[in-house]
Amino acid sequence: MYRINKQDAIYAMSPENKPVLTVLSGSTVVFETCDCFEDQIRTADTDFGELDWNRINPATGPVYVEGAEPGDMLAVHIQKIDIAEQGVMVTGPGLGVAGAEFTENVIRMIPVQDGHAVLSDSLRIPINPMIGVIGTAPAEESISCGTPGDHGGNMDCKQIREGSTLFLPVNVPGALFALGDLHAAMADGEVAVCGVEIPGEVTVKIDVVKGEKWPLPMIINEEHIITVASEVELDKAADRAVVNMVHFLNEEAGMDKAEATFLLSLAGDVRICQIVDPLKTARVELPRKYINSRIL
Ligand code: CA
Ligand code: CA
Repeated sequence: MYRINKQDAIYAMSPENKPVLTVLSGSTVVFETCDCFEDQIRTADTDFGELDWNRINPATGPVYVEGAEPGDMLAVHIQKIDIAEQGVMVTGPGLGVAGAEFTENVIRMIPVQDGHAVLSDSLRIPINPMIGVIGTAPAEESISCGTPGDHGGNMDCKQIREGSTLFLPVNVPGALFALGDLHAAMADGEVAVCGVEIPGEVTVKIDVVKGEKWPLPMIINEEHIITVASEVELDKAADRAVVNMVHFLNEEAGMDKAEATFLLSLAGDVRICQIVDPLKTARVELPRKYINSRIL
């Protein structure tokens, strides 16, 4: 079992990043992660102006996976997400969907107690630990860890959680995989511009998959097979997640496109991941039972 400390962080997914660890396909790696503010906020009276905004959305890594070549897929099995005992939320003018409703920034420290995020004495929300930023290096460009895309990145998708396998593209030799930005809890939309932002540790097993051309990123867990797409406009993100699933069902599950489209119209829920990042992210969730188990 390998381990990467949170001091080994990147702020963009880039082919120029130097790997901090090299592993064989099939290896298990523990990533220690900062929260999205790189743990700079310790108390609710922290001055926003004193934060170093160059240190936002760090991702721990990257890891070079031996044998991963452009055109392969990376299968990232999320085995365990351990979170700290306290997280933080922020909102304010220009932040999130309701940013125009605020005249000043608000910081709230959020204790995690007995499996709940404690927003107040009367508002205790069950936790759903998840990974906000997780991806591989794009082929040529450098993409900020605050932005999602076909390489993964800041997808803020609550299905990227313990028990899920995330499939990502390999765009450069070794893939250069990294992750960070854990949330103790988050709802679809992430409307405040954050979930319960929290440090933690993530244990993943990383496999290189050769010879498959899936429309990535995709997620498979015990219940669903999921396509994920990010675009500037949410409508287009949702459309592309649907089309990606039609292509997957057509090319991998042997359905003709009409049958696949009918199936999605009846059983494929189109959902929002987040609507607050530079690109918006949508997903389509199809119950696994409708898909030939040969491919899963
Ligand atoms: Ca995020
Ligand atoms: Ca976050």
